[in-house]
Order: sequence, then C-alpha cells, then structure tokens
Amino acid sequence: MSIAAFLKITDIFLLSFVTFESDCVILPKYESEKRMNFNELNLNEQLLRAVTEMGYQEPSEIQTAAIPVMLSGKDLIGQSQTGSGKTAAFGLPILQMIEPAKDRKTQALILAPTRELCLQVADEMRKFAKYMEGVRIISVYGGQDIQRQINDIKGGSDIVVATPGRLLDHMRRKTLRFHNCNQVVLDEADEMLNMGFLDEIKEVFAQLPSERQTVLFSATMPKPILELANVILKNPEHIKLNQKHLTVSTIKQDAYLVLPSQKTDLLIQLIELNNVNQTMVFCNTKRMVDDLNAALNKQGFLSMGLHGDMKQEMRTSIMKRFKEKQIHLLIATDVAARGIDVDDMDMVINYDLPQEIEYYVHRIGRTGRAGREGRAISFVSPRQRTVLSQIEKITRQSVELKPLPTKEDLEVMTTDLIENEIRKGLALNVSVQDIISQLSDRGLDAKHIIIGLLSKVVESHQLKAIQPVNDRKSKDRGPRDLSTLVFNLGKNQGIAPAHLISAIAESCNIRGSEIGKIIINDRQSMVEVPRHMEKEIVEIMNKTPIKGKVPYVSITGKPVKEKQRRSNKGHFNKPKSSR
Ligand code: ADP
Ligand code: MG
Repeated sequence: MSIAAFLKITDIFLLSFVTFESDCVILPKYESEKRMNFNELNLNEQLLRAVTEMGYQEPSEIQTAAIPVMLSGKDLIGQSQTGSGKTAAFGLPILQMIEPAKDRKTQALILAPTRELCLQVADEMRKFAKYMEGVRIISVYGGQDIQRQINDIKGGSDIVVATPGRLLDHMRRKTLRFHNCNQVVLDEADEMLNMGFLDEIKEVFAQLPSERQTVLFSATMPKPILELANVILKNPEHIKLNQKHLTVSTIKQDAYLVLPSQKTDLLIQLIELNNVNQTMVFCNTKRMVDDLNAALNKQGFLSMGLHGDMKQEMRTSIMKRFKEKQIHLLIATDVAARGIDVDDMDMVINYDLPQEIEYYVHRIGRTGRAGREGRAISFVSPRQRTVLSQIEKITRQSVELKPLPTKEDLEVMTTDLIENEIRKGLALNVSVQDIISQLSDRGLDAKHIIIGLLSKVVESHQLKAIQPVNDRKSKDRGPRDLSTLVFNLGKNQGIAPAHLISAIAESCNIRGSEIGKIIINDRQSMVEVPRHMEKEIVEIMNKTPIKGKVPYVSITGKPVKEKQRRSNKGHFNKPKSSR
C-alpha cells in the first residue's frame, strides 16, 4: 500500500501551473441552418483578413442578419442570446463605415453596461481593425482614475466604448465630444436598464447629433427597452433570432438549500460525492471566484479560477488546460465564461445563482451534450427559493430540492473514497514489505499503520455534515451580509437612489440588485453594500464622480437603522431588477 496514494499532492500540482503558454482564440460553435460566407457580406478586405485570422469561419446568425442592415445605414433593434456574436455584428460594419483618423473626432460610440464588457468590446474591435490604418479605439468606464482617462482621451479617438455613467461625466466635463458621431450602439441594453442607467442613457442621447444611425442590442426586450427604443431609434429594423430551445431534457437539475457560509463545504462534499470529471462552477463576482478557488486549492483540489480581470493569455491558457482535461474543476464568472467553447461538462454547479435566468440556461447548457446525461446543481439560499419555480418554468423540467448530505452519507462516501485509494494503491504493486518491517521494529504494527494513515485521510477530506438551514425561520430575513457606506452627497447635490446604484454598479462591477437599502438625506447618503466588498467599493467610490462630484465615502459598518429606514421609506425606490 503506497503512502503517496493517500496524500493529496496539491503542492506539486500547483507548482506545475505557474508557467502559462499563450494560445489562439477560443471560439464557440454556431448551429445555424443556412450557412453564409463572410465574403458575401460586403465587408472590406482588411476586415475579412482580420476575422479570418481570428478563426471566424462563417458569420453567426445575428451577424448574417445585422451586418447588411447596419451597412445600409438603417437603425436596428437586435435581439439574440449572449454568446451569439453581437460584437462583430455591430463592430465590423462600424469599422467599415468610419473614416479612420478623420481629425480624430469621434465617429462612433458604443455603450456597454460594465467595465468588463467595455474592455471586451474595445479589445475585440481592435482585433477587427488590425489591418485598417490608424483607427483609434478608446474605452472609458467607471472605477478608473478619471484624470488618467482624460489624458488618454486627449489624443482623440475614432471610436469610443463607454459605460453610461462615466461617459456622461466626460460629456459634462467636455473631455469627450460627439458632434461628429453618427453611429451609436447600445450593447446589452437590458443589462444597462437593470443597472439603473436609464436616466444616464437618456441624458447621453439628448446630447448626441440627431442625424445618426442608432443600433440597440439586447438579449431580452422588456417594455422599458421598447419604450427607450421608441425614443432613440428611427424606423428601426427588428431582428429577433429564435431562442435556440435548449434541450435540457438530458440534464438532471438539482438544488440544495444552503446559507452562503456553507456553500464551500457543500461544494467540496458534492465534488467528492459525485466523483465526476469536468466540472464548471459559476460564481457571480470575480472576488468570489478568487476566494473559492483559493479555498479549494487549500483543501487540495486542483481547481483554477477564470474571470474578467485576468489577462486574455492567462485565460486562454487556463481554458486550454481545462479542455485538455489537465484540470477538472473550473471556477468562473459568466462574463469570463462567455464565448468559451467547452460544452462537454459532466457537471455544472451554480455556486451563486445567476442574476438573469437566461444565464442559468446558458450555464447549464454546457453539460448534457450529445445525449449524455448532464448534471446541474444550484446552491439556493432561503430567500432565493422562489427562483427555483422560475427555473422550472423556463427549462420546462423539474428541479429537485435535495437534502444535504447527512453524516451517514458522508461516512459511506469517505469509506468509498478510501476503498478506492486503497485499491489504487494495491494495484501499484510497490514493494513496501521492508518499510512495514522497519515500522514494526519501531513498535508500529499493521493496525497502527492503517489507523494512522486512514485518520490522516479522513482528516484531510474534512467531510463534516452541514447543518440544514431552517427554511421557514430565515425565509424573510435573508442572510445577506451588508455593510453601510456613507457618502457626503445628498439631496442638496441632486442625488437620487438611481445615481448611487448606477455609479456603484458601474464602477465596482457589482449588480444593482446586490446593493441593499439606500437613504438620502440633505447632505449625505447611506448605501448598503455587500460586506465582503466594502473596502474595495470605498476605495473606488472615493475616486468616482457621482453627478459630477467626487464624494467622500466611509464605512459605518452597521446596518441601516430600522428607525431611519421607516422614516425614510419614500426613498427606497431601487430600480426593478429583471428577476
Ligand atoms: P455576444 O455579444 O452576442 O454575447 P460576442 O460578440 O461576445 O457575443 O461573441 C462571443 C464569442 O464568439 C467571442 O469569443 C467571439 O470572438 C466569438 N465569435 C463571434 N463571432 C464568431 C464567428 N462568426 N465565428 C467564430 N467565433 C465567433
Ligand atoms: Mg456582447
């Protein structure tokens, strides 16, 4: 029996991952019925050369449909799923239609909801423009030092990719002007509205030239989007791609009711219990990805994290390792996982339930391909229970709420694991007789050796049963751990809740729905934010202008007082989340 077989070889494995090689772009598969060629889309040579180099073989459906409309100069509403290739659908025609280096006055503006998407779009556009001379594309987004951005902007730009709040800031300071801008794209419009950006968007559009082509892309078309479209678009062409019906019939969907603090333990148990190969775990924030990955590595799991703050090369390299099954456990955010061509997952775990139901479908669609049985597991907090019925409705399949693994389950599981290890060890046929007799000389008989080694394994697996959540009791008072920040801006400065929500969401990469109560007094405002992000948010927001003013922000640490809450009830009008 080999000792090594019992021990987890974390360190050795982790060391071998320090070096990363870069790789080509990872591309998703498209399953369009009618195939077209990029050559048939009237795009210029330079663009064709760039997309070919990027590995695009044929245009996706939305590209096939949208590119001709955009090139005709018409306004457009495009509705299609995430990952369908919308960036090229608007990016290629925009590049074709601009006149590069024309006085360096901005000719096209692309609005995106978050910093990550902004960077992603600008990056992709630069790749498309690789063979065009002198195209300058800049991105401006909240959370970055505004002075540095102003310096960056000074050189002029042909195309600006921006988040709405920061863009407005620059427009007010007149550091960005759009007199010559005749192409405007609103990317992920629904997400922007979810983040509370409606006012900002309207204000931006009020200052744009009325002679322009406007294009709006959105995965969903709720009423507020259509209303916005009525205001900013003229006789738009509508393109709606059929939502590809996901065949989730081969995916078994389970859910576990847990508190946030219990999720990591449960995840470890499920990974051990299910003994599956490729598993993708989704979290909603970059921070969570990093924290969870660190926790799993510490427990000896060979996992890797993937999120938008990592360099593309690093991401590509991690994906390559995952695809080649050198790593079996990938922790990712939705944004980072987009456009990643891996769909033969054995199991997808929603460590955090996604904010948008659409992401759920997208996430779990990565398992159960090619008729194989896939598994999707979601961790649900007591206050998220209602989401389960929504999921059942959307997927037209039931989601089974499973009991947490019990002490007995875990014992059986541990025994299985150990039996497995022992059998693997025996199969190695390593001669250990000498060691056994030497140990025996030192007073350790076979029983000691077995108990000693087994105890070590049991201890290292740390499979302690999780206390089930008392569902009813915690139903109304959710376990959200929030901390209160004080901003020295209030009613006197014209501050409304939407300004705070959109500024924080935009700059700190969190969703509006993660922000708790907001109270606005004359000269200051109180905002509840997730406690694990309080320091990060304070640091960023102390540099981020809100309605043109950089606030002073501090942490009170306490939740907003009940008394204050009641007396200020009128101000708690957060924008509705689409959930
Ligand atoms: P969306 O904006 O619709 O969510 P993206 O534009 O971000 O989608 O595209 C998703 C991924 O697909 C990106 O990695 C992109 O490079 C890739 N992609 C886009 N169009 C094509 C194509 N025609 N062929 C291959 N890959 C493509
Ligand atoms: Mg996109």
